[in-house]
Amino acid sequence: MKKQELRHDWTKDELLAIYNSPLLDLVYQAASVHRAWHPADEVQISTLLSVKTGGCPEDCSYCGQAARYHTDIKVQALLPTETVLAHAQKAKDAGSSRFCMAAAWREVRDNRDFDRIIDMVKGVNEMGLEVCCTLGMLTESQAQRLQEAGLYAYNHNLDTSEEFYDEIISTRKFDNRLETIKHVRKAGITVCSGGIIGLGESPTDRISMLMTLANMEKHPESVPINALARVAGTPLENLPKVDVWEMVRMIATARIVLPSSMVRLSAGRIEMTEVEQAWCFMAGANSIFTGERQTLLVTPNPGVDEDMQLLKNLGLKPMKKEVKNTCSMN
Ligand code: SF4
Repeated sequence: MKKQELRHDWTKDELLAIYNSPLLDLVYQAASVHRAWHPADEVQISTLLSVKTGGCPEDCSYCGQAARYHTDIKVQALLPTETVLAHAQKAKDAGSSRFCMAAAWREVRDNRDFDRIIDMVKGVNEMGLEVCCTLGMLTESQAQRLQEAGLYAYNHNLDTSEEFYDEIISTRKFDNRLETIKHVRKAGITVCSGGIIGLGESPTDRISMLMTLANMEKHPESVPINALARVAGTPLENLPKVDVWEMVRMIATARIVLPSSMVRLSAGRIEMTEVEQAWCFMAGANSIFTGERQTLLVTPNPGVDEDMQLLKNLGLKPMKKEVKNTCSMN
């Protein structure tokens, strides 16, 4: 299969037709697109560290870090820079090429904590790792500061469709998300943006969210597809587990409409068997988050050793550091 032109004019009907096509055809098509655009035997390994945990003023219904829900998550102030850099070094030694730092903030404030984040970004960048942050909403000048410190990517998920947004979050608007993504782009930082399935949304909502991403002037370089991790104490704790075939459909559709992007199999992976994860790789996922089980992450993730064994079993290998711009041909 030859690389098709990247498109930015997808319609809902087109996307729904892809999403609802017979599963094996869908996976075959997605696997073909994957092979045309990416080495199919490589998976990017990203390590995620929560640098500031819990106590968030936002009300995202799926999140155990929202201060208003009573969850088991322990509030943790911003970690010392040396601690973060030690984790980054460990992640690099274990085969990660990207290190993501997450802070449970509504938005970045121009204060000492942000100065410390800037130091962390500089330090991780100097180690030769791609450095990514997710810190909430950003202004244009904050994005610029992060870029100057060496930030490679900024994660800011759409979460769900514009139509369903108010059902999940009331403390901000869908447009706020787009605004931050615009600031990130303008600063020349790559964009990591995707969403979550299993929030009670319809397939049309899923498609609508993918359509927003696929019709951006420039596709996000990285697109995390999460399955709801049901955190006790949050409003969504009793929703049913996401069916694996729905994850496979979502990943395959994302792969087809965002062919140059890294499609990341993210939260919810711990509830999947190896066989189920293999289906997701076949459907075009080529990036995973890994971490020290339960210690660094706010929702559990498989441990690093298990992930390496999984890749070995499937004949996959960790991707070397992405060269800037390889994924930004749109
Ligand atoms: S998802 Fe982020 S913004 Fe929303 S409550 Fe959790 S930490 Fe806060």
